Amino acid sequence: MAYKLFVLPGDGIGPEVMAEVEKIASFFTQEGSAAFEIEKGLVGGSAYDAHGVAISDADMARADAADAVLLAAVGGPKWDAVPYEVRPEAGLLRLRKDLKLFANLRPAVCYPALADASSLKRELVDGLDLMIVRELTGGVYFGEPKQIIDLGNGQQRAIDTQVYETYEIERIGRIAFELARKRRKKVTSSEKRNVMRTGVLWHQIINRLHDQEFPDVTLEHQLADALGMQLVRAPKQFDVIVTDNLFGDMLSDVAAMLTGSLGMLPSASLGEVDSQTGKRKALYEPVHGSAPDIAGKGIANPIAMIASFGMALRYSFDLGALADRIDNAIAATLAKGLRTADIKGSSTEPTVSTTQMGDAILKE
Ligand code: ATP
Ligand code: MG
Repeated sequence: MAYKLFVLPGDGIGPEVMAEVEKIASFFTQEGSAAFEIEKGLVGGSAYDAHGVAISDADMARADAADAVLLAAVGGPKWDAVPYEVRPEAGLLRLRKDLKLFANLRPAVCYPALADASSLKRELVDGLDLMIVRELTGGVYFGEPKQIIDLGNGQQRAIDTQVYETYEIERIGRIAFELARKRRKKVTSSEKRNVMRTGVLWHQIINRLHDQEFPDVTLEHQLADALGMQLVRAPKQFDVIVTDNLFGDMLSDVAAMLTGSLGMLPSASLGEVDSQTGKRKALYEPVHGSAPDIAGKGIANPIAMIASFGMALRYSFDLGALADRIDNAIAATLAKGLRTADIKGSSTEPTVSTTQMGDAILKE
């Protein structure tokens, strides 16, 4: 049975980095280790140019029918003036919304060969391998009321509301515990229950979930401010961190800088398990954007995109052994000294192109 991948190269460096993933996917297919059936679609500026929308209904339906969606990046100055509803980012938002992707997984892995590119000292990050699980569809970014009220006396009042319900905390918690079971069996849950009611509920639900369904996983709690401090003080203490939308947004950017370059960071967004098919909707994409400044030059780093494909193999297809091969190939290629321009650091070796990096990883 072939795994159905829906591939959205998008804009800017998107098609350049996606091409390297397609090479690896067709290699696995040829090798006979897994068969991928790849369909391609348009999203972002490229979809706007072709159809006048950020993603067409037909492509949305194909995304919905696929086993996993791979997306590179959208946007760029070319589309700065297009109407707001059809701006490139609207394509990404529609995918997230229609596929109901509520969990955002951002690994922060520091390859030994790149430990000097971190914002921290080498010994603090060498061997770092943590995963932030961020709630993506609830919390203060979406809660009502959300408004600015004119008080009439030259004063205004701005209101945002943080709302979390039991089921939202349970389903994100379950993802974190299940991930931890396949890793080092430790979850750190983070909120601010000392000042927020949503934090009190979060803490209570995560504790209950742990006791009832995941007693084999070690659970600890850290207040979100303390966790931010610990992330830059001793990040290797963490395995899986689970937190809400707002704190997760901030903490995952902090964690990103522990690993060096934007060009290295993959992500996954997961939805509910479909009761009919038993499958989970999922979208995999690099953390970086379309990098219009370097688009078309063939110098973009394809590693974040390739590692995102690795996450798809691991989490959507249960092809952990193939995902390990990808991760090991990335590590080995870096260990040999190959560097795209963004991760060159103080290396004196000549830099390699997008294709050269992709080919080297494929060879490994
Ligand atoms: P977005 O709004 O889409 O998130 P952004 O403004 O945050 O975009 P990115 O596109 O993520 O910006 O990139 C920021 C800068 O980092 C780019 O201008 C580029 O120089 C560099 N960069 C990002 N991704 C890569 C990559 N894969 N390879 C090399 N350099 C990259
Ligand atoms: Mg950005």
